[in-house]
Amino acid sequence: MTNGLRPHFTPYTISLLIALVAGPIVNGQARMPLADPEPPTPSPVLHVHATVETAPMPVGGDAADDPAIWVNPDDPGLSAILGTNKQGGLFVYDLQGKVLDETKDGKLNNVDLRSDFPLSGKSVVLVTAGNRTDDTIAIYTLDRQTRRLTNVAERPIKTAPAYGACMYCSPKSGKFYYVLANKAGQVEMWELADNGRGRVSATKARVLKLGGQLEGCVADDATGILYVGEEDKGIWRMAADPGSSDAPELLDAVGSGRLVADVEGMAIAETGPGTGYLIVSSQGNNSYVVYRREGKNEYVKTFQIVDGDRVDGTADTDGIDVTTRGLGSAFPKGVFVAQDGFNDIGNQNFKLVPLERILDL
Ligand code: CA
Ligand code: CA
Ligand code: CA
Ligand code: CA
Ligand code: CA
Repeated sequence: MTNGLRPHFTPYTISLLIALVAGPIVNGQARMPLADPEPPTPSPVLHVHATVETAPMPVGGDAADDPAIWVNPDDPGLSAILGTNKQGGLFVYDLQGKVLDETKDGKLNNVDLRSDFPLSGKSVVLVTAGNRTDDTIAIYTLDRQTRRLTNVAERPIKTAPAYGACMYCSPKSGKFYYVLANKAGQVEMWELADNGRGRVSATKARVLKLGGQLEGCVADDATGILYVGEEDKGIWRMAADPGSSDAPELLDAVGSGRLVADVEGMAIAETGPGTGYLIVSSQGNNSYVVYRREGKNEYVKTFQIVDGDRVDGTADTDGIDVTTRGLGSAFPKGVFVAQDGFNDIGNQNFKLVPLERILDL
């Protein structure tokens, strides 16, 4: 042996070696160890921490509902998070969670946006939300400098009872749509257009009955697929274009071991043309389920936002949104935003998680 180290056997170490070879001694008899011990079960759920939370809602109870992210292409650090107050309006927050603007136009439930809508010869950021106060489409532009909202709806556009909503821009036609998904299982698509006088009109383009109560939805502008959540059943997937007649398919079902009712918000994380992830809020177990965006939407992983040192975790989440675009030093590879049903201090709000904590980017 080198360095003066030599094996040194005492009667104790010898009996220990015998025990190790023979197995534990129980009631005076040596028992052989199990040939193939069960490996510890790894946790299949990824736990992440949020780094920012938005200002709490001005009212108690269930109020915050659905977020949408606007990425500022000129200065990504000056992007914005929009978030509905389903008891009465819509907020715009900066990336530190501070309020930049608030509208009080009614019980706005779900919100979505597209950043390149043609209006009056310019490209504008168009925001839509379902207004449950009068079952209309709330339509705004978001000013790229001030990050404030302007109502540009041509008129009160009456729809089926409002509830869930998202937007779609067809890769075939370039047309923009507001998509409604409601408690009666109805899906309605409304084509949005410049009315020639600086405001936005909407024309009903498709009506579909999907089953039970619907809410969360997201449309994929690259693949032309619309995903709709039936709260106690699962995730529907269908061709988004109004002319399509393919039967909707159930992508994943409540009871599969991944989704626990209600199925709520949905969002698409784009990593390349047509590639990335579909993320869905599984409200019943305070989790988010990640599927592949491409192909048959294979299951990837499940994660939860748990309590951190500064920001509490999320529970009972309704709406979510995600972007893979870098938003400055706080969110260099994008951000995931989730409504939190139980804020630790104060009313409900939204939590922001750096995306690289969730996805392999
Ligand atoms: Ca809720
Ligand atoms: Ca949304
Ligand atoms: Ca719901
Ligand atoms: Ca919480
Ligand atoms: Ca908090």
